[in-house]
Amino acid sequence: METVGRLCQTPIPEHQIVKAFHRSAVKPAAILLLILFSGVAPIRAMEIKIWEEFSGEKALAHVQQLVDLGPHPAGSDAIEKARDYIEAQLRHSGWQVTRQAFTDDTPRGKTHFVNLIARFGGDANPSLLLCSHYDTKLFDTIRFVGANDGGSSTGLLLELARVLGQHPGEARKVELAFFDGEEAYENFSDTDGLYGSRYFARQLQGQGAKQFHGGILFDMVGDRSLGITLPPNSPSALAHDLFAAAEALKLRKYFSYLDRDLIDDHAPLNAIGVPTIDIIDFDYPWWHTADDTMDKISAQSLQIVGSVALYYLTESALKR
Ligand SMILES: [Zn+2]
Repeated sequence: METVGRLCQTPIPEHQIVKAFHRSAVKPAAILLLILFSGVAPIRAMEIKIWEEFSGEKALAHVQQLVDLGPHPAGSDAIEKARDYIEAQLRHSGWQVTRQAFTDDTPRGKTHFVNLIARFGGDANPSLLLCSHYDTKLFDTIRFVGANDGGSSTGLLLELARVLGQHPGEARKVELAFFDGEEAYENFSDTDGLYGSRYFARQLQGQGAKQFHGGILFDMVGDRSLGITLPPNSPSALAHDLFAAAEALKLRKYFSYLDRDLIDDHAPLNAIGVPTIDIIDFDYPWWHTADDTMDKISAQSLQIVGSVALYYLTESALKR
């Protein structure tokens, strides 16, 4: 407090105030007083730490809404309700949403799929993709609601959309993609699973994928016992920067590599030259079981992944 009192007596250059903000030894309340009395707009300080605006609780509330719809596999009535919910939330946060609808052959016959794609503002010029799948895997014998698998990443992406929506400069550089039909009906193959991302990648390739210099896929990011396991087929440069972001926030212990590659929605994007990282916690005992329910995930885990992702975005990926 003594330091702040002395500083307030004389005008100080703005860059020194910002430096002072970074010094964690000075209490936040004192910093606020310092900023107010020095005439520097508080918005400046907010912009420095966008990642602190992410709310794990808000992300979790979205997951609850999706889980409350019950199982919502591709082509079901329930997934139409999931779409309505996602669209409404995105629009509320200032995003423009388009539906990318298509039909594909599946082991269960022709199925209708819809990807939801969101951009921010009429002058959006996105260079980075943020993705999640929002369908739940179809099971005939169990009630599968996918709190972690499908729900967690969708809730997280909706909360990221809310935070980015408060920062139009950053939001305009991002495109959000909510993929339908990630789940295979039988086994992942060139014709089963990843329906939405495969279609999205084909369309993007037709339009020239060079617009995007990278992407982040989120999948299963809510496990109470969080341990993100990046599959090695995530581009190493992006992985390096993500680990650095986790380190900067003292959350590095939650991020490591998986011991094998994964087939997930990042694969079709990497195949067309959009380097995309897969932020997934594949160490999840309830994966594809009836027990993938709300009690297995936590706001704190969503908070960890969301804040690291925002730090990575604003301090690294969007600065390129
Ligand atoms: Zn799954």
